[in-house]
Amino acid sequence: MCGIFGVFGHPEAANLTYLGLHALQHRGQESAGITVSDGDRLRTERRMGLVGEAFDRALLRSLRGPYAVGHVRYSTAGDSSLPNAQPFCVEYAHGAVAVAHNGNLINAVDLRKRLELDGAIFQSTSDSEVILHLLARARELELPGRIASALKQVEGAYSLLFLSENQMVAARDPRGFRPLCIGRIKGAFVFSSESVAFDLIGAEFIREVEPGELVVVDGKGLHSLHPWTVPEERRFCVFEHVYFARPDSFMDGRSVYAVREALGRRLAREHPVPADIVIPVPDSGVPAAIGYARESGVPFAMGLVRSHYVGRTFIEPEESIRHFGVKLKLNAVRQVLDGKRVIVVDDSLVRGTTARKIVKMLRAAGAREVHMRISSPPTTHPCFYGIDTPTRSELIASSHTPDEIARYVTCNTLKYLSREGMMEAVDEVTPDPGPKRLRVIGQGYCDACFTGRYPVEFAPGEMSSLRRVIN
Ligand code: 5GP
Ligand code: SF4
Ligand code: MG
Repeated sequence: MCGIFGVFGHPEAANLTYLGLHALQHRGQESAGITVSDGDRLRTERRMGLVGEAFDRALLRSLRGPYAVGHVRYSTAGDSSLPNAQPFCVEYAHGAVAVAHNGNLINAVDLRKRLELDGAIFQSTSDSEVILHLLARARELELPGRIASALKQVEGAYSLLFLSENQMVAARDPRGFRPLCIGRIKGAFVFSSESVAFDLIGAEFIREVEPGELVVVDGKGLHSLHPWTVPEERRFCVFEHVYFARPDSFMDGRSVYAVREALGRRLAREHPVPADIVIPVPDSGVPAAIGYARESGVPFAMGLVRSHYVGRTFIEPEESIRHFGVKLKLNAVRQVLDGKRVIVVDDSLVRGTTARKIVKMLRAAGAREVHMRISSPPTTHPCFYGIDTPTRSELIASSHTPDEIARYVTCNTLKYLSREGMMEAVDEVTPDPGPKRLRVIGQGYCDACFTGRYPVEFAPGEMSSLRRVIN
């Protein structure tokens, strides 16, 4: 998972991009990068670390020009090194072009092999670089045409921002796995993985880029292309709603907060249990816990307090550090928990290691009973569309039943939201603005990590090699 942001036609393009990336920081903490264009030349600066660490005032000041794209990258199983940081920028026969990518191409390994046999030299191990090589080889005269030609050869999930000297192109794959939206600020166009970045810079939200759409912005304004003549079925990532996106974002036409609260309400209806308090695992479990408390009538309380000076613990690659990380991040409040029957709500359960630590912590602080409630179904399958979930063997629900997991986690009961419940909760939140679309509940989403039904097929054996180039 990554975050992308772009500005076209604003004197402070790099500053706005820096702010936009700050708002998207939750989508990637490993590296940050910005490419600017002054109309003649592109310049790229990429650094490891958080946005605030990567760019200081002097560096930002030196990034001059009215056009910019930026990227924050998520730590993955693949190489976490500077060559894999984005945007990627290349010079080729038609000038220079930069790309920022959120998603994952599932045929990147094959394409890369083919390109390398043909003489291409890669600078990174990232799948995103493949797109630039394909683009550079395309015969079309104009950049949007070259992009379309490249994208017709790749399969998988992508939301992309391209920047040339004087043109920006935003693209979403035909299934629309990953989000991307368009905004406006003082005559300039802005693009962002999530609308929350527009709130920060005071931009007006216009709309989302449609699945399979190429949005081109240049001196003539904004226009869109639809290179795919046969549309694919929409497959927006339901896990963006469950966990990834910030709750104050709007995506898929809906408020992410409203969806999470609905997930919690639905969870309370599916899995009630007598208790004294409902507590969230902060921050990601908060809206669902509020929904659970409202629906069940059990009072909401903050039984766990989170330190805001540590990032998401999941991103620590070393097992030992990750375990320690839970304590670094969360502490239990005895005042709230002592002698209580506690319902603890979290958005998802992946390995179960965090959950186990949390249950221990709650009991040590006096909780009499601990009932875990998860506002999504069991995570049984890895994601190949841009989210770095562990391999199957590390996903506890791929080999254990909820009752077995409850024993491992040492809670009194553990219940997950059903797949139907999850999809109904998403559908319950009316797309705003506009009328509720008439469609079959739960259609139009990817839910492969919960069901194993992958919308884009990949060749057997590709799975393991995919891990290495996943972006
Ligand atoms: P577990 O109990 O499986 O060790 O951890 C579950 C926690 O990890 C949940 O609080 C959930 O919010 C979080 N989580 C789920 N998926 C991801 C992910 O892909 N990245 C990160 N950073 N956290 C995740
Ligand atoms: Fe999202 Fe899961 Fe599909 Fe990946 S597999 S795109 S995380 S729903
Ligand atoms: Mg969490």
